[in-house]
Amino acid sequence: MSKRLVILGAGESGTGAAILAKAKGFDVFVSDKSSIQPKYKEMLESHAIAWEEGRHTEAEILNADEVVKSPGIPDKAPIIQALKGRGTPIISEIEFAGRYTDAKMICITGSNGKTTTTMLTYHILRQAGVDVGLAGNVGNSLALQVAEDPHPVYVIELSSFQLDNMYDFKADIAILLNITPDHLDRYNYEMRNYVDAKFRILRNQTSADAFIFWNDDPIISREVAKRHPAATLYPFAETREPGVRGYTENNQVVIETSNGTFTMEQELLSLRGTHNLYNSLAAGLASKVMDIQDERIRASLSDFAGVEHRLEKVLRVRGVDYVNDSKATNVNSCWYALQSMSTPVVLILGGTDKGNDYSEIEQLVCEKVRALIFLGVDNAKLHAFFDGKVADIEDARSMEEAVSKAYKMAQKGDTVLLSPCCASFDLFKNYEDRGERFKRCVREL
Ligand code: ADP
Repeated sequence: MSKRLVILGAGESGTGAAILAKAKGFDVFVSDKSSIQPKYKEMLESHAIAWEEGRHTEAEILNADEVVKSPGIPDKAPIIQALKGRGTPIISEIEFAGRYTDAKMICITGSNGKTTTTMLTYHILRQAGVDVGLAGNVGNSLALQVAEDPHPVYVIELSSFQLDNMYDFKADIAILLNITPDHLDRYNYEMRNYVDAKFRILRNQTSADAFIFWNDDPIISREVAKRHPAATLYPFAETREPGVRGYTENNQVVIETSNGTFTMEQELLSLRGTHNLYNSLAAGLASKVMDIQDERIRASLSDFAGVEHRLEKVLRVRGVDYVNDSKATNVNSCWYALQSMSTPVVLILGGTDKGNDYSEIEQLVCEKVRALIFLGVDNAKLHAFFDGKVADIEDARSMEEAVSKAYKMAQKGDTVLLSPCCASFDLFKNYEDRGERFKRCVREL
C-alpha cells in the first residue's frame, strides 16, 4: 500500500508538495481550513488529487504516515497538536522537495532583507547563464519545480516558519542576514526559540558547504562562537575586520573566497543604503562561492532594479521624492530606511503594532524627520512615544489623507517616506496593497 501523505494548507507550497507527492506515488490528501484559491484548486483537480477546504476532517488527516504543513499554520493549531500527540512526522514543503533533488541549494534567511538578497542572488546567477530556480517565500514552490521544471540550482528564501519543520535538508550555501525580534507570537514569546529556528539553516552542513553571515550582528556572532558551524565561514561587515570575507575598503567592495578576490567600486552598487550594502555583500559572496565570473557579478550588482515595496522610488513631485517602503513591517527595517536617507524626511508610519519599541528609531527620527504622519486605526501608542519629539505630527485614516497631508508638509528637497514599522491589516489587505495605494495616490498628486 502506498504511504499516505497529508498536506495541510493549499497555497503555493502545499499545492506544489501535493503535485510532487502524487508524482512520487503517495496516497495524497490536501486539507485547508480556509478556502482554496481557484488556481490551486484547478492544479489539484488536474492532477487528480483529493482535497477539502473550510475544514480539517480528522478521519482523513490523522491516518497520515507523514504530514507536510504550510508555514502559515502555527504549532498550536488543534490539528497539529492532534498529529503531534500521535507522533506523526510533520515536515515543511522544502524538506519534502529536498528529498527528490540533488540540486545545489542557496538558502537565505534573516529577520530583514531576505527577499531583496534572494532576488539579487537569483538575478546574478540568471544573468550569468546558470539554470537556476527561485523558490521559498518568493517564486514558485520548490516542490512544484522539482516535479515539473527541475533546475540544478535553486535560490530559496526561507522564513523561520519554514526552517521549523526542516530536518534532513541541507543548504549548500546558507545566508543568515541578521536576527532581530520578529514573529515572537509564534515562538512562545521566547527569543531563544526564534534564534534556534533561524540557526536550523546550518543543519547537516559540512566543511564543503558555505555559511555567509553578518559578522556585526551581536546575536549571530554570539551563536557562531557557541555553535562552531561545520561549514566554511564567510562573515561580512561594512568595513574590513579580522576574518571577514566581504567588506568595503577605500570605496571598493571586496569579496574574498577560495575562487579568488572580487572587487568593484561601491558607487556602482545599484542598491542604496547600508542594509543594502549587506545584502549586496551576501549575494556577491554566494555568487563568488558559486564561481560566477567577476564581470557578471559586477554587472548584476550594478543593474539590479530592486524589489517592489522595498525602498522603491516612486516619483519626484515638485522637488519632493516619494519612496515606498511598505514592506518595512518592523522597527528595524524602518531604522535602515531612515539611515539611508540623505534629505529631510516626512515619514508615514503606523498600522497594526506587533509589540514595537520605537526607541530604536528615536534618534534617527529626531535627526532626519521633519514631520510624522501616523497612518492607522489606533495611533495612541505612536502619539505616546513621539509627541513632543517632532514638531509636526498629523493623523491619517486613509492613504489618500496621508499622502495629501505629506504633500502639504514636505518642502522642496525633502523625501516623503512610507516605512510603516507595522503590519498593514488594520487599513489594508496586506503590505502590497498598502504600497500600491501609496503609489497610486502619489501618481495622482
Ligand atoms: P524580508 O524578505 O526579510 O522581509 P525584504 O528584502 O523584503 O526582507 O525587506 C524588508 C524590509 O527590510 C524593507 O523595508 C527593507 O528596506 C529592509 N531591509 C532590507 N534589507 C535589510 C537588512 N539587511 N537589514 C535590515 N533591514 C533590511
